[in-house]
Amino acid sequence: AKTPRYAVVTGGNKGIGREIVRQLAERGLVVYLGARDEQRGRAAESDLRADGLDVRFLHLDVTDDKSVALAAERLHEEAGVLHVLVNNAGIGGPMQPPSETPTEQVRTVYETNVFGVITVTNALLPLLRRAGSARIVNVSSAIGSLSAAAANHDPTGVHPPGEFPVMLSYATSKSALNAVTLTYANELRGTGILVNAASPGFVATDINGHHGVLTPQQGARIPVLLATLGDDGPTAAFLGEDGTPEG
Ligand code: NDP
Repeated sequence: AKTPRYAVVTGGNKGIGREIVRQLAERGLVVYLGARDEQRGRAAESDLRADGLDVRFLHLDVTDDKSVALAAERLHEEAGVLHVLVNNAGIGGPMQPPSETPTEQVRTVYETNVFGVITVTNALLPLLRRAGSARIVNVSSAIGSLSAAAANHDPTGVHPPGEFPVMLSYATSKSALNAVTLTYANELRGTGILVNAASPGFVATDINGHHGVLTPQQGARIPVLLATLGDDGPTAAFLGEDGTPEG
């Protein structure tokens, strides 16, 4: 029998994450579906397993060091190696301009969208290194693009030209995530671990009250592409919904 290839997807119980879980499992990976809520995680797990996919609920709250450590321990025992990590879990923030944004709100959003990614990545890196060839994908956003912000141009096309959305917490958390992605990519060059960020596009999910225009299946496409790159694939890239580099 072929040796199994293992993946972890954070925030895998709904939205884009759940579709990333499905598409990776459809490609034959054993996928650990990370979820902070046991009930929601188990429900998604059983739906996907009913479709014949090898999906396993993994309790994982990215803001809780203990939960992350326990998840890493379980993976260490059960799989002993990890080939793909998709840092998908994320929360939105209110559309508030910086002048009206309480610092505490920024901290909350960064806790999940930035610090959570670092905590999970560092906990799972030993297992990824063991694979020899592995992929880390950070689910970012076009709203995190610094060149779009500098040009005051909304890369999502939702706002008219000359109106980059004025929102501090979420947008800058994704800019920080892109920078974090680059530091990992640079540290891990030559190790066989490729580290990239993806903008899924504007996807109809709970995070935007289902105002998005793409389906979660469509949103999962580029993250899955980056999770299944060949060894000659890029590292330190930030790809948009059409698969071309973003600034
Ligand atoms: P959803 O709100 O549908 O899903 C978010 C997922 O993240 C849920 O599974 C949620 O779990 C999970 N999550 C939140 N906080 C934590 C935590 N502390 N620990 C573990 N899991 C957590 O949104 P999307 O599917 O749209 O979002 C997925 C990613 O895509 C996010 O990073 C988002 O920023 C990004 N993105 C989305 C876009 C869009 O248009 N939808 C555009 C650009 C980027 P729970 O069910 O428990 O809340």
